[in-house]
Amino acid sequence: MPTVALVNAETIEIVGARVHNLRDVTLRIPKGKIVVFTGVSGSGKSSVVFGTVAVESQRQLNETFTWFIRNRLPKYERPDADVIDNLAPAVVVDQKPIGGNSRSTVGTMTDIQSIIRVLFSRHGVPSAGEATRYSFNDPLGMCPECGGLGHVVRADLDKLLDTGKSLNEGAIRFSPFAVGTFQWQIYAESGLFDPDKPLRDFTAEEWQLFLHGNGFRVPRLNKTGSMGHNAYEGLLERFDRLYIKRDLSALSEKNRTAAMAVVSEQTCPSCDGARLNAAALASRIGGLGIADYGRMEVSDLIETLAAIDDPVAAPIAGAAIARLRRVEDVGLGYLSLDRETSTLSGGEAQRLKVVRHLGSSLTGMTYIFDEPSVGMHPRDVHRLNELLIQLRDKGNSVLVVEHSPDVIAVADHVVDMGPGAGADGGTVVFQGSVEKLRASGTLTGERLRETRPVNESPRTPTGWLTVSGADRYNLKNVTARFPAGVLTAVTGVAGSGKSTLVSGAFLAAHPDAVAVDQSAIGGSRRSSPATYLGIMDQLRQLFAKAHGVKPGLFSFNSAGACAECGGAGIIFTDLAYMDPVTTVCQTCHGRRYRPEVLGYQVRGASIADVLDMTASEALEFWHEHDDARILTPLRALADVGLGYLTLGRALSSLSGGERQRIKLADHLHRRGGVYVLDEPTTGLHMADVDTLMTLLDRLVDGGNTVIVIEHDLEVVKRADWIVDLGPDGGKHGGEIVFAGTPTELLADRRSITADYLRRSLT
Ligand code: ADP
Ligand code: ADP
Ligand code: ZN
Ligand code: ZN
Repeated sequence: MPTVALVNAETIEIVGARVHNLRDVTLRIPKGKIVVFTGVSGSGKSSVVFGTVAVESQRQLNETFTWFIRNRLPKYERPDADVIDNLAPAVVVDQKPIGGNSRSTVGTMTDIQSIIRVLFSRHGVPSAGEATRYSFNDPLGMCPECGGLGHVVRADLDKLLDTGKSLNEGAIRFSPFAVGTFQWQIYAESGLFDPDKPLRDFTAEEWQLFLHGNGFRVPRLNKTGSMGHNAYEGLLERFDRLYIKRDLSALSEKNRTAAMAVVSEQTCPSCDGARLNAAALASRIGGLGIADYGRMEVSDLIETLAAIDDPVAAPIAGAAIARLRRVEDVGLGYLSLDRETSTLSGGEAQRLKVVRHLGSSLTGMTYIFDEPSVGMHPRDVHRLNELLIQLRDKGNSVLVVEHSPDVIAVADHVVDMGPGAGADGGTVVFQGSVEKLRASGTLTGERLRETRPVNESPRTPTGWLTVSGADRYNLKNVTARFPAGVLTAVTGVAGSGKSTLVSGAFLAAHPDAVAVDQSAIGGSRRSSPATYLGIMDQLRQLFAKAHGVKPGLFSFNSAGACAECGGAGIIFTDLAYMDPVTTVCQTCHGRRYRPEVLGYQVRGASIADVLDMTASEALEFWHEHDDARILTPLRALADVGLGYLTLGRALSSLSGGERQRIKLADHLHRRGGVYVLDEPTTGLHMADVDTLMTLLDRLVDGGNTVIVIEHDLEVVKRADWIVDLGPDGGKHGGEIVFAGTPTELLADRRSITADYLRRSLT
């Protein structure tokens, strides 16, 4: 049977899907195609793609295992739909950070490291042996000093000692060595030093003796006051032996806290951060060691490997090059293999995951992407498109949630969700080809047809905020001026240094500036928009007053909580190796409260009913109540485009973009602040970007300074000032290529961003 034709003919069938806001969605998704899902934020794209297709695929796949394995897999609830049929196994490639484990690097995660290890074991001179001897995750290869971590925790003398003081005055700033303790006596009463001499006056010999000396017998007073003798041990040796080399978790809480205060993490002195033992590091190919390979930018490593012409080594090098090119293809050529994956941004992490999947030879899968263009400059988006096309051409279905017109352009089929967000969305408003979408009357179609001009009347700065001599990572001694009282867009290709300059150097130099980012919001699993914005406290008071009971009763964190789920509304199962799973609590059915609490009502609604309202509904419901402490935060939610969120929604279920906007809502009515936002358009439809811009304009007009790192050219066009970094990524970047107004940028010939801005106007 011609399988290719069959795959193409097939469609994923969804009938009557009601997940989240979906309104009985019936949809046929063609298989073996690139299908892009568009629509405003909150319209239901994720509910179809992740909530319905991915969840049901996983669930059906799990059912094929024996109960023994199934018990160890996450439990998925069947999505609410009449029919979900003809699915293929789904691979979700999302923006979740790649683990916090410091043993995971770009090299290990892409499997390129294992190829490099084989290369060195066969061709390195001298060879350290088999390939595991080049692995920092194997005892045979790891540096014995740091255990393959590349860094060690050591006493930090600047923290441990106050050199202006003498031993008698308490120069050792670590409580187990405080004046009068037996450990202090070892030094102060050893007779080796003058206990009244400030440490900074110690001679070189005294320092050596104090920190590293050993082998002496020194007098020591025991508890009864009589003299004993003890072997002397230098302070650092002793500190290391008792507090560092021992498992820190074995120390008492008090000692551990004290120890943490006087240590710092340092590059391992033995391997200099290269993680490997001496034998592995000594091996050379063409004068370069495995550590040099790890430190090189991917693009340079490709050149180095391509130069290997030994007939036996060349094929291995070739295998590494093929994978490294994929890293380059996703626009990450500026990374090095030794970069820890925990330091990558969400967009970088997602693109690296793509590299891993491209290496696999699986076909007939469904790959699902969540806005893969995040963090990518318009210049690089076409390379991402190539990868999506490759995945499709291997016989896979590729489902993509995207807002970028450049990605939408390669869709074989578009599903446009809407028309609005939340209850105003949840239907398919268009499906078909990109050309037909452009001609359609949907919001997406309209926006795809439109071209907007650049801002020709930028605001005048009220002053300047500077950063000077920034030289971290790839920054080349950058001095930058950011105008106060206006909206600045910081642009440049991925890896050019935007985050290092803005989220790093600028924030460090201006501690009053607030970073409004997409990171997780602290607090418990029970945190919600209502608790985060302080609405919950007011609601509790209101309900309590109306019924003459204690406010605590209306808290699902304490007195009012459902006994089964403790007020979470869901049962949360954390599985060590997989994504955590949540299921709705069977006792309160997700309402979080004990039944009797729900009997107390205000204007016909219980506290749970009130928390089930969206911000927009709540605005109407509490309108007459006229309490600014409730209405102001509700309006702020609506203003940042989150009017569709229910007040009790778990913050942990929000997307990165939604988190960022809820943080923004919290700042909306303040003045004189400096705000830094990293890619605030993430998760936003072109129409949502308008709302965001209106919001940023309001912040600026209210006397605030706003700096955004952005790739979206519509934001760049509307900024008052642009700082463009580059010219390229990694070591080819790190300089300011351009600073000025949008009109000035249009005339610039060196900036890559200028080039794409010009194209976007035609
Ligand atoms: P999109 O992907 O288009 O931004 P979503 O599918 O994420 O939209 O959201 C559609 C609607 O479903 C919104 O009203 C959103 O608040 C709601 N929703 C999404 N995820 C959840 C969830 N985990 N719990 C409750 N409601 C949710
Ligand atoms: P952008 O924000 O423009 O994408 P970044 O500021 O993230 O660029 O990166 C600039 C350079 O600094 C790149 O070469 C990147 O690899 C490097 N870099 C960024 N963060 C780290 C880190 N935590 N460790 C090592 N190098 C880093
Ligand atoms: Zn080491
Ligand atoms: Zn419950």
